[in-house]
Amino acid sequence: MKKIAIIGAGISGLFIANLFKRNPNYQVTIYEKNTSITLEKGYGIQISANCIKFLNEIGFEKLNNEEKFTPKKINFYSKINTNKICELNISDFNSDKCKYTTLRRSTLVNFLKRDLEDAIKTGYDISKIDKDDKQIRLLFENNEIKQCDHLIISDGVFSKSKSLILNKKIKPKYNDTLAIRGILNKAPNNIDNQNISLFLGSDFHHVIYPVNPSGDLNFIAIMKYKLSIEEQKNYSQLNDNSFIQDVLEKVPLEYKELLESLKELKIFPVFVSNNFYKIKTKNIHLIGDAFFALPPSFAQGASQSIEGAYELFRNIVNNTESNFFKNRVNKIKMVNVRSKLNQFAFHLSSRLTTFIRNIFLKKLVKNRKFLEAYLGKIYKN
Ligand SMILES: Cc1cc2nc3c(=O)[nH]c(=O)nc-3n(C[C@H](O)[C@H](O)[C@H](O)COP(=O)(O)OP(=O)(O)OC[C@H]3O[C@@H](n4cnc5c(N)ncnc54)[C@H](O)[C@@H]3O)c2cc1C
Repeated sequence: MKKIAIIGAGISGLFIANLFKRNPNYQVTIYEKNTSITLEKGYGIQISANCIKFLNEIGFEKLNNEEKFTPKKINFYSKINTNKICELNISDFNSDKCKYTTLRRSTLVNFLKRDLEDAIKTGYDISKIDKDDKQIRLLFENNEIKQCDHLIISDGVFSKSKSLILNKKIKPKYNDTLAIRGILNKAPNNIDNQNISLFLGSDFHHVIYPVNPSGDLNFIAIMKYKLSIEEQKNYSQLNDNSFIQDVLEKVPLEYKELLESLKELKIFPVFVSNNFYKIKTKNIHLIGDAFFALPPSFAQGASQSIEGAYELFRNIVNNTESNFFKNRVNKIKMVNVRSKLNQFAFHLSSRLTTFIRNIFLKKLVKNRKFLEAYLGKIYKN
C-alpha cells in the first residue's frame, strides 16, 4: 500500500484526501499546522459547475439541500444603487447534476472532513523535507519524522513547503487589493436574494449572494488599497481594530452605511502568485493556492483547487504524474487572465470608461460565442 502525505488541510488538501481514502491501494495522512481545522463559520463561497462534478464523486449531491443554494444568474449593477446594467445566466453552464452552487465555507469544509477524522493530524507544522529516489522524509516542528511515497503540498498561498522543497524563499505578491468580508444582518432594499448581485464601483466592487435557501446573504468586497512593504510583511497583524478603522475611513462614502451594517467584519490583504514552480522530484506535487493563487475576481480559486486535485489524483493512480504540471499550468493561465481582466473592468472609474464598459457588458452577456470562450472554457471540463 502506497503512503500519501498531504501538507495542509484546506479545501484542496481535504478534497484530494477524500479521493485517496476511497482507494484501497493508498493510505492517506494530512498534516495540518493548526490545532484545528479553520471553519470561517459565516462566510460564503461560490463553486462553479466544473467543480461540482468532482465534488459529486465524493457524495456532494447528497448534502442537505437546506445547506446549499443554486443561483441562476449574476445581476450586474453600477455602484451601490440599483441601476441594473444587465444579467448573466450562469445556469446555462449547468447540467442536471452539476449546478453553479453557493454555500457557507464551513458547510463545505465540514463536508470535506467528515470521512477523514482518522486521517487528519493537527499540530504538524512542516520544517524540513528530505527526499531520495524511493522515499520522502518529512520533519515537523514538533520533532516528529514521517515517511511517504507521494507528497502533496497544499499549504496555501504562503506555502512553506514550496520554499523548503525549492530551497529558496518563494513569496506571493500583494494584489494591491483588500478583501472585506462580512455577514449581512438584513438584505439591502431591492436586492434579488435568489441570485448573485455584483456591484461595480470605482476601485471597489462588491458581491452579495445567498448561501442557503433560507436567504442568509454573504457579503464580499474587493477594494484597491496600497500597503507599505512593512505592512505587507506583517499581513497577519492587519486584522487588528486600528487597521480596520483606518480602512473603513478610506472606504468611499456611499458604502459606509452598508459596511457598518455587517456582522463579523473581516478585512485582509489579497496575495496572489506571480510564477509557476515545477518540482523536479516525480512524486512531489503542489495543488491549490500553493500551486498558484489567483486574484479573487472570478471566484475560481477553490473550484480550480478542487479540479487540480482531481487531475493529480487521476494522474497518480494511472501512473501519469508527469502530465499533471503542464496541463494544470495551461488551465490556470486561462483563469488568471480572466480574473485580472474582471478586476480591471469591475474597478473602472471615469464616466466615459464605465459608460463604454456597460455597453459592452450588455452585449457580451447575450453573445453565446463570447460566453462559451470566456466562461464555457473554464466552467466545463
Ligand atoms: C476574498 C476571497 C474570496 C474568495 N472567494 C472564492 C469563491 O467564491 N470561490 C472560489 O472558488 N474561490 C474563492 N477564493 C479562493 C479560495 O478561497 C482559495 O483558492 C482556496 O481556499 C485555496 O484552498 P487551499 O486548500 O489551496 O489553501 P488554504 O485554504 O489556504 O489551506 C491551506 C492549509 O494549509 C495549512 N498550512 C499552512 N502552512 C502549513 C505548514 N507549514 N504545515 C502544515 N500545514 C500548513 C493551513 O493552516 C491551511 O489549513 C476566494 C479567495 C479570496 C481571497
